[in-house]
Amino acid sequence: MKVMVADKAGACYGVERALELARRAAEKATSPVHTLGALIHNPAVVAELAREGVSAVDRPEDAEPGSVLVMRAHGVTPDIERRAADGGLVIVDATCPFVKKVHRAVELLSDEGYQVVVVGESGHPEVEGICGHAPEAVVVGSSAELESLEFGRRVGVVAQTTLERSVLRDVVSALVGRCGELRVIDTICEATRERQQAAAELAAASDVMIVVGGRSSANTRHLADVCARHCAVTHHVESAEELDSAWFEGARTVGITAGASTPAEQIEAVRSALA
Ligand code: SF4
Repeated sequence: MKVMVADKAGACYGVERALELARRAAEKATSPVHTLGALIHNPAVVAELAREGVSAVDRPEDAEPGSVLVMRAHGVTPDIERRAADGGLVIVDATCPFVKKVHRAVELLSDEGYQVVVVGESGHPEVEGICGHAPEAVVVGSSAELESLEFGRRVGVVAQTTLERSVLRDVVSALVGRCGELRVIDTICEATRERQQAAAELAAASDVMIVVGGRSSANTRHLADVCARHCAVTHHVESAEELDSAWFEGARTVGITAGASTPAEQIEAVRSALA
């Protein structure tokens, strides 16, 4: 049985960076270190961080004054940053630089008088953080959601970093003719597209496809859907322990991919268990 790992798989730059910043903060800290929400949608990594002294809090007010608060790669609203500073917390900003770029883009559009449209998943922490930088922005998940909205003369569009580009294209083309001036800042991060493309190509060439990542990780679930479209026998697992030898009977090629919140060690554990 041949086992292959997708060219692009697992933790992206922003997630690796956030993990590194949290670990470094824990090594240096003389006071408790917290993350605002789980740093990453991966139970094994969250448990490992807890052993290293990093625990999650839901709100800045839940952290004791003087403790360190690590902001996740998804980013936060300016209001949360203010509350953390007012509470006497030491902030470690692990917001991914690509997410920061979206914050700057909506601020610019808003300052220049554009009606801001954020294409993404309403309620997602990244989208909430983006809207915190342009409170009048509207969030749409698809072109169908534009129908009930009114638009002014100038409309500025950005996207959640993990959006599929086809959705952005649909929304932009549906906006043509609904306003006088349309400005689009394409803020989609290539990491997601590259992972999806590599996963689809590998799934098409595999008899069985294994997708590694937390079940609460939306991007891992999405990756599993992409694989299932190209390989009928696709399984989503959180760890190597969940692999079942019955899945591989008669399989000649097995592909492995992993969501953006899956560290390299977990991919390697699955690969070596299969090998
Ligand atoms: Fe940053 Fe892209 Fe990773 Fe999001 S997917 S954290 S934008 S590198």
